[in-house]
Amino acid sequence: MMFSYDFKILIDGKLTRPVRGGLMDVINPSDNTVFTTVPRCTAEDVDLAVKAAQSAARQWKNTYIGERAEMLFRLADIVRSHSEELSALETAQYGGPISKTRNFDIKFVPGELEFIAGLGRAATGMTISADPDARVMTVREPLGVVGLISPWNFPLVTAVSKLAPALIMGNTVVMKPASCAPVTVLKLGEYIVEAGIPAGVVNIVTGPGPEVGEAIVTHPGVDKINFTGDSSVGKRILSLAAPRVMPIAAELGGKNAMIVLDDANLDAAVEGAVYAAFFNSGQNCGSPSRFYVQAGIYDEFVPRFVKASSKIIVGDPMDKNTMMGPLAYMKCRETAEAYIAGAKRAGCRVLLGGAPPSDPYLARGAFVLPTIFEVYDNKTELMQEEIFAPVVGVMKIASPEDAPELVNDCRYGLSASVWTSDYRLGMLLIERLKVGTAWINQHLAIVPETPWGGRKESGWTKENSVLVLDEYCYHKHIWIHMSETPRTFWEERIKL
Ligand code: NAD
Repeated sequence: MMFSYDFKILIDGKLTRPVRGGLMDVINPSDNTVFTTVPRCTAEDVDLAVKAAQSAARQWKNTYIGERAEMLFRLADIVRSHSEELSALETAQYGGPISKTRNFDIKFVPGELEFIAGLGRAATGMTISADPDARVMTVREPLGVVGLISPWNFPLVTAVSKLAPALIMGNTVVMKPASCAPVTVLKLGEYIVEAGIPAGVVNIVTGPGPEVGEAIVTHPGVDKINFTGDSSVGKRILSLAAPRVMPIAAELGGKNAMIVLDDANLDAAVEGAVYAAFFNSGQNCGSPSRFYVQAGIYDEFVPRFVKASSKIIVGDPMDKNTMMGPLAYMKCRETAEAYIAGAKRAGCRVLLGGAPPSDPYLARGAFVLPTIFEVYDNKTELMQEEIFAPVVGVMKIASPEDAPELVNDCRYGLSASVWTSDYRLGMLLIERLKVGTAWINQHLAIVPETPWGGRKESGWTKENSVLVLDEYCYHKHIWIHMSETPRTFWEERIKL
């Protein structure tokens, strides 16, 4: 069903259309039909957006932080009052089940705005005992204009997780949501105006990444980019930013591991595995897609994991009982199917799924059924590459000692979990994992208070928690010399 709504970009406080008036389709991945159209910007719109953000920067930076926080609180209230509409739009544009968009995404967003608004007011600098003759300190300063480029898998959550800390720390922004799922961020633009955030502080443009995203990255008026997305796109952005030595915050892909040891609570491990692997159709940067299961529990864990996964309700994401919707668009399905074919060629054994859906409704959309392979070689593509779909590999390990090497033998380093009753052993293993987040007997728990981010080709930036504030400010070091005598290393003072 075509959704007719006049979505507008936000530039300099005005909800407007692109200079060249372009439009682009947003496709509903459930049935592969056009769901709505949105503005398709060009570099000219980016230029206007950056200039508006530059003009607003001085006044915004000098606005009392308590006032900035109040605006974020107002924005949170407005988002909450539109939660039904926002969750339905989120589901329609990228296929995340309504149970997920309603109960996670649209609840997380106002909570994140409020958490960051309060947190920012508690941000401090340091005083340093460097010299008895001096008073030495650091003060936080905003970066200026920050470009926020976000992905489609949690469209509003990832956008707001960047927007809130950027604003509270006194920056102005140009935001670009993913081109396949920009609708809720465009709605946010309306709420930003309603919340009374001054003109030019937040600017929102939409359009293809290689054109509009790159125009933001290469614009000389932008002082930093905060990017979440695929590692290959992250590398491209890094290369574009290098000539200006512009700082880049990068939250990139993941190939996350779940280690299940012989002494794990089997019920909890099975339930945790099914949820973490297949929630949001496996389209979570932190989802486990490679399982290392110890030999003593393998023959019990694997059949139960397969059986429980086979019961996942896949279907219309607008149905509240649906547990797994489609992937975000048809190309994602094609990519997943290519990986499935590759795993079969590599000798991996299908334990569940592995074939396109036969149901006519599912066959029309970007659906991929939960798929589990038994794997015998950690070097197979299935255990090395981010598929971003409900497709996972399970491998038997002889001892807990084998796990760190297998987990670390991968270019990604986002997250991992260990399932065991022996917390000491779990902790010793975790200390050897080169990942940004590690859980024991849990996988995917993320709240605004906890930092999120990876290592290696998963990037290095931290989102959420108190650490996120550092991504959006400079720490300026100030040294005040208090004595009349300058500090020098000459034997004699210069007689003037
Ligand atoms: P993507 O990299 O294709 O797109 C992300 C954003 O970058 C979009 O707004 C896109 O339009 C833009 N973009 C694309 N090409 C660009 C270019 N050349 N220059 C500037 N911008 C460009 O990612 P996606 O498919 O939207 O999202 C899925 C990816 O995001 C996965 O790899 C996933 O692991 C990753 N992700 C990581 C985290 C994390 O915290 N580490 C969180 C969510 C998603």
